[in-house]
Amino acid sequence: MEIKLFINGQFRDSSEKIIKTSFDPSSGLEVGKYHVPSTKDIDEAVAAAKAAFANPEWKNMSQENRADLLLKISEKLKERAKEIVDIEMRDSGSTLRKAKADVHNTAAFFKVMSKVARELKLTVLDDQASRAGFSINSREYAPVGVCAQIIPWNFPLVMAGWKIGPVLATGCTTVLKSAEETPASAAILAEIIRDAGVPAGVVNIITGDASVGRALIAHPEIRKVAFTGSTAVGAEILKSVAPNIMTATMELGGKSANIVLDDADLSIAVDGALYAFLYHSGQACDSGTRLLVQEGIYPAFMEKFLSRIKDVKVAPTTDPNAGYGPVVSEKQMKSILGFIEKTKSEEGKLLAGGSRITTGEFAKGFFIEPTAFEITPKHTIFQEEIFGPVVGITKFKTEDEAIELANNSKYGLAGAVWSKDHARAHKLASRIEAGTVWINEYHLLNPGMPFGGFKASGIGREMGSEGIMSYLEVRHVWESDCDDREKKVWLDAIF
Ligand code: NAP
Ligand code: MG
Repeated sequence: MEIKLFINGQFRDSSEKIIKTSFDPSSGLEVGKYHVPSTKDIDEAVAAAKAAFANPEWKNMSQENRADLLLKISEKLKERAKEIVDIEMRDSGSTLRKAKADVHNTAAFFKVMSKVARELKLTVLDDQASRAGFSINSREYAPVGVCAQIIPWNFPLVMAGWKIGPVLATGCTTVLKSAEETPASAAILAEIIRDAGVPAGVVNIITGDASVGRALIAHPEIRKVAFTGSTAVGAEILKSVAPNIMTATMELGGKSANIVLDDADLSIAVDGALYAFLYHSGQACDSGTRLLVQEGIYPAFMEKFLSRIKDVKVAPTTDPNAGYGPVVSEKQMKSILGFIEKTKSEEGKLLAGGSRITTGEFAKGFFIEPTAFEITPKHTIFQEEIFGPVVGITKFKTEDEAIELANNSKYGLAGAVWSKDHARAHKLASRIEAGTVWINEYHLLNPGMPFGGFKASGIGREMGSEGIMSYLEVRHVWESDCDDREKKVWLDAIF
């Protein structure tokens, strides 16, 4: 596969012929060659997005027509699902189940965005604020303009969809940068966007490393940055956009607490806890990587947990029954193994796993055993995000103690509570400092509901009405309802 730059509706070569290779983390085999944009290419991509924003065909397009485009994209994603699933598995190390779910969920997301676009009211009269004989107050919503959107490698297609969907629903335009490890599925999405009839330049897609990301967000024509990635890079981006005064939404890291109460259904909670930290080899921002288990249930829970962890099938993604596959790259694998070694050296108690898997078919890929440590808040991995199949387990006595442990983190992306008593679980859920909290559930998201983080896990939300609003500027229009000079309010200067 050759992945070109998608600029102004066309697939182009890198003007400086910078071409790199993307690999399959299961096998080390080449997936494709991708073109990296030069500074000139980045400028042209932003110029295309700027021109498209002003293009009357896009600017004045009705919400109905925007909605139709979004629906077409959803349908075309479904038509090309098999091809996308295949490339996503090889490019990102996703299992068959995860890749299928990703394509299905992205198609569903575009369908929801279509509905949102159709129902979006861009002018809203406010009866409460208006006063007869005095004022008629209304809100008008306008697209923010040219966006720079940067996504990570763990959910390449889903993240591209979450970014592009609201751009199309609101009439913005974008230059999206996919992650270097995983450029393939966004390139197919670019074809779909073109084939659906989205005007040229509305969506531009490039890939490349941090230097490309930096050049893109520093461009003076950008009016909003939407970033998903690590907290460290998010902080750097916030600093760099400060002089240009613009909206920046940040979906960042997490260290989510997964609380098992003593009245939880053991078989569901144990599998829920494994799924919470092992889904996609632990490379999900909302992973339940701090497992907090109440004293009364601890022995029974741990016995079942350590038995069930042996049933987890780690396998290359070519195996349709793989429970989870490789981590995305050698760099990522080394970082995870570093955290494992650090925890051992800090005398965290190793309960399961703890090593790379290198036997037979695993030798050419980046596989790590499902790994569990018993830890306390003083261990590094209680605080630091690992982004791999590693969980830290901590015992607690009381609910207050569970909350203290859960909120003892700079992060606040997600969390969960497992209990048969829903009222008890709800009370606890409301005390967790996190943007998403599940009760007897994990990882499931709803496009109609907001997703994002408290504290160092981010700024703003994606999805839900909150996600749409972040692509709109609001204008308050004050219309006088008083034509009588004597009755008008003159605050000062004229009496
Ligand atoms: P990352 O290193 O922060 O990279 C994310 C993206 O930013 C990539 O496209 C990367 O490019 C680019 N980038 C890196 N440095 C940059 C800079 N200085 N300026 C502009 N762009 C820059 O994160 P990652 O390791 O790829 O992804 C894992 C992280 O993402 C985890 O911390 C995870 O929690 C977070 N995440 C959060 C969410 C959420 O919704 N909250 C979802 C998924 C992931 P290249 O990688 O191509 O060089
Ligand atoms: Mg790859």
